[in-house]
Amino acid sequence: LLAARGVRKAFGTTDALRGADLEVRDGEILAVMGPSGSGKSTLLHCLAGIFPPDEGEVWFDGNRVDRLSEAGRTALRRTAFGFVFQFGQLVPELDALDNVALPLLLGGVRRGEAYAQAANWFPRLGLSELEHRRTGELSGGQAQRVALARALAVRPKVIFADEPTGSLDTLTGEQVMDLLVDVAREEGATVIIVTHDARVAAYADREVVVRDGLVSDFRAAAR
Ligand code: ATP
Ligand code: MG
Repeated sequence: LLAARGVRKAFGTTDALRGADLEVRDGEILAVMGPSGSGKSTLLHCLAGIFPPDEGEVWFDGNRVDRLSEAGRTALRRTAFGFVFQFGQLVPELDALDNVALPLLLGGVRRGEAYAQAANWFPRLGLSELEHRRTGELSGGQAQRVALARALAVRPKVIFADEPTGSLDTLTGEQVMDLLVDVAREEGATVIIVTHDARVAAYADREVVVRDGLVSDFRAAAR
């Protein structure tokens, strides 16, 4: 479904990725672990078409993402991908429903339809009655569930999550992970989760480890 082949990415003199290889299967929930600064977020950003690699190939659904124009990558992100980050992806001044409808509106869905679709996620994610709360006023767990609804709104094929529970306490993090995994399975979405937390990785079907800009599978890395 999604693959990186020999992906290299440098920031100035820092080699963030040094020939990373990864295959992600359709419907898989994959955890990406590894030390701080090893290149996990950079790998996620290359896979998601946020920026192109310096070298190597990125494939999604049989197409070369690394060959797309910036506009092509933006269109792909808006239609096929959903994103959940540690914090910062919600617009705090807007209410929860506006935040979830936003990616649909950006994707060209008409206003009434976008709001109707957005509203459907609220009961499903335990957010009933929070539709009109400004997201800056939500608890961390509520905000992450709104972020999840927002990521799911476009019915993405892939959800990219970078430390999705990083700002939450253990119990709240587990609730968010339970929802993320359950809804992703129901929707048939593939999920790539970057995490430091072995408890979060335990939700995944498979773990890989990024070290010094290279990816290895978990068992190989443990030897
Ligand atoms: P963490 O677990 O701390 O989030 P990470 O594994 O996600 O770390 P990356 O963010 O991918 O690591 O960073 C890999 C390397 O690239 C680091 O040395 C980092 O300092 C560098 N780097 C990442 N993004 C940039 C950027 N925009 N500009 C300059 N250097 C960057
Ligand atoms: Mg990171």
